[in-house]
Amino acid sequence: MQRVIFLKIFDCGGIIKLLEKELLAFDAQSVKYCVPSSKFSTYGGGGSLSISVYAKSASDLLKIAPIAKNLDYPFIVVGACSNILIDDGGFVGLTIMTRTFTGVTVSGSTISANAGERLTKICNVAAHAGLSGLESLYGIPATIGGAVATNAGAFGTEISELIEIVEVLDIKTNKLCKIMGGEIPFKYRNVDRIFENKIILSVVLKLKPGSKDVIDRRIKAVMEMRANSQPQAPSLGCVFKKINGVSAGYYIEKAGLKGATIGNAQISRIHANFIINKGGGNANDYIQLLNLAQNTVYRKFGIMLQKEILIIGEGHNHNCWNYL
Ligand SMILES: Cc1cc2nc3c(=O)[nH]c(=O)nc-3n(C[C@H](O)[C@H](O)[C@H](O)COP(=O)(O)OP(=O)(O)OC[C@H]3O[C@@H](n4cnc5c(N)ncnc54)[C@H](O)[C@@H]3O)c2cc1C
Repeated sequence: MQRVIFLKIFDCGGIIKLLEKELLAFDAQSVKYCVPSSKFSTYGGGGSLSISVYAKSASDLLKIAPIAKNLDYPFIVVGACSNILIDDGGFVGLTIMTRTFTGVTVSGSTISANAGERLTKICNVAAHAGLSGLESLYGIPATIGGAVATNAGAFGTEISELIEIVEVLDIKTNKLCKIMGGEIPFKYRNVDRIFENKIILSVVLKLKPGSKDVIDRRIKAVMEMRANSQPQAPSLGCVFKKINGVSAGYYIEKAGLKGATIGNAQISRIHANFIINKGGGNANDYIQLLNLAQNTVYRKFGIMLQKEILIIGEGHNHNCWNYL
């Protein structure tokens, strides 16, 4: 009954009506309508998602894949939403949420995790099992699926170095397949679109046995480095990619933009490559600051900063699938 009322109130361009029957295959708690970014994004601001389906299992994802494939709207997979900004106009399309598809197991020196498992939880499980390799990635607020799709990295380690197997669901064929880590064309914060139209279901990481004390000490050191060099306020992490190994923050700071504020968003005074939400910040505030940083750095240094974050929503849907 409650669902029927939602369907009537929030008819985002017809998509909700269009998917009304298909989505009955999911329980009511797994399907959400018009959820604002403040509820699920680490930036804590931006537009709403018209329909999001929270997958809890591989079979949920197998059910959602054909729906996404046949849809005349864009769709996207979202993990922890720690790297995606949703435009204030909202995203009219289907969002496949994986954060509820959790689970992690250890076998010898390998760890297998479902796509929605948090990277930090996996790091903790590895540390507890005396497995080393993930310590530098501790504190990245990602799901493992999102971390693999973006080739997350920190303090000299990239997740790509640790991947043995990635299991994916190909939305075009609705088939499951396993890709060996060595076959994936990983680059810096980039996977060359290999996961386009694919949902990462699970990941097997190959780690090395190590002393628990040493692992714990490394994790503590990494957390201290993060706490000392990054803002605690809501953000999407680094806005721009490094340029020839140099943080974009170096140029943004040199351009005098630390602390620049538009609306309720600010270029962090602690780390100039972070845009923080001071409370009530929206996507437009964020995008204006991003443009300010990009234009100013280009004018002053002739360097065009490349976005590390992804923007979706009206005018940005080229970043989604079914829209290529
Ligand atoms: C405070 C803070 C610190 C950060 N520090 C770092 C850092 O040190 N290093 C770093 O690399 N990043 C960092 N980030 C950025 C971010 O956490 C990473 O980019 C992370 O890997 C994104 O994971 P996610 O689960 O949030 O993915 P999302 O933001 O939800 O999605 C990112 C991309 O991955 C795709 N995707 C997500 N899940 C899947 C899936 N299951 N199958 C297919 N595609 C999928 C999405 O479609 C999207 O294209 C930081 C962010 C914050 C807020």
